[in-house]
Amino acid sequence: MAARPIYMDYHATTPTDPRVVEAMLPYFTERFGNAGSIDHVYGAEAADAVKVARKQVAHIINAPAPEDIIFTSGATESNNIAILGVAEQYAGKGDHVITCATEHKAVLDTCKHLAATGKDVTVLPVDEYGIVDLEALESSITDRTVLISIMTANNEIGTIAPVAEIGKIAHDHGVLFHTDAAQAVGHIPMDVERIGIDLLSISGHKIYGPKGIGALYIRRRNPKVKLSPVVFGGGQERGYRSGTLNVPGIVGLGTAMEIAEKEMAEEEVRFRAWTTEMLEAFREAYPSVLLNGHPTQRLAHNLNVCLPGVESKALIHLLKDELSISSGSACTTTSVEPSHVLLSIGRTVKEAHSSVRFGLGRDIIDRQMQSCIESVILNISHIQKIK
Ligand SMILES: *Cc1c(COP(=O)(O)O)cnc(C)c1O
Repeated sequence: MAARPIYMDYHATTPTDPRVVEAMLPYFTERFGNAGSIDHVYGAEAADAVKVARKQVAHIINAPAPEDIIFTSGATESNNIAILGVAEQYAGKGDHVITCATEHKAVLDTCKHLAATGKDVTVLPVDEYGIVDLEALESSITDRTVLISIMTANNEIGTIAPVAEIGKIAHDHGVLFHTDAAQAVGHIPMDVERIGIDLLSISGHKIYGPKGIGALYIRRRNPKVKLSPVVFGGGQERGYRSGTLNVPGIVGLGTAMEIAEKEMAEEEVRFRAWTTEMLEAFREAYPSVLLNGHPTQRLAHNLNVCLPGVESKALIHLLKDELSISSGSACTTTSVEPSHVLLSIGRTVKEAHSSVRFGLGRDIIDRQMQSCIESVILNISHIQKIK
């Protein structure tokens, strides 16, 4: 069998860590119990496993208690539960929600739905690095504002938002703060207490856990956050997310968090060195290269560059047997639409179509990095020659 290409699209998804798979396996077979049926040992051992996982998830974001965490099917569902839940629950207080232009579609389209049902939605622009203007944010708050939803780290350009400042602004005005932290938790330190986060979305498969599992942190004190449920049924997860718990997935998510907590500091140093080296090599070979995103306030394992004059689809196609990279987020790669994130930071449509995203991850070794850099540079020059 031919060697598989090097995978460098870790923002789209990550492989499940073998240690996570191992922890999950017994919960498909001998420990298959329903965590809600605790009258017997089968249910009780499933409930115990969920309890451990809830603690592991709470710990990595410094949530005061495991009960602050509910399990969902992923960050998409967590974002929906948070945004729709606040909008309905606090409708008596106000009807205004604030977000920003570079959010994931799971936030933007949920807010679009709110707007279609008569709510007032402000979508703030971002600067050339993908950061919202804090003064514009503060002045967009009215006495009808109930929620600010701004992501912690961007899935395309890796920009990290000034979340502590945003949390402070929100709380100074008595507004709740939700953050989509699917790309942040397990990659950078997160602390819901220090940052002042009221609601936080997590995805399993962005951090070496399985797909189809996620979590939502819901603050229970200072202030106590209440949500109107969007899913009804058996009342699991404090009534916020009915449905039989995905015990193997939950065990996987918890294990993934425990591993990430131990390993993320070391990984960050390694990834930062590689992305820095890669950008320098590209600059040397192709001086007109532009970095998409913030030069320093960025995820260490992200590099998103614009190569003016090089069509990203052509480059990705030429590289396909050696390297799996993407031109943007998974949701936009099947369409010809340019990335809304790249347009928001001021890239032209042409520049957006000349951008590629590298997402590094746990399984990459130095030799693969070197071969990736060489292949990209070689294929850029191929493209230039045939033009
Ligand atoms: C992947 C991703 C999501 C969606 O998460 P799922 O768990 O796949 O539903 C939401 N927001 C961001 C920033 C993401 O990267």
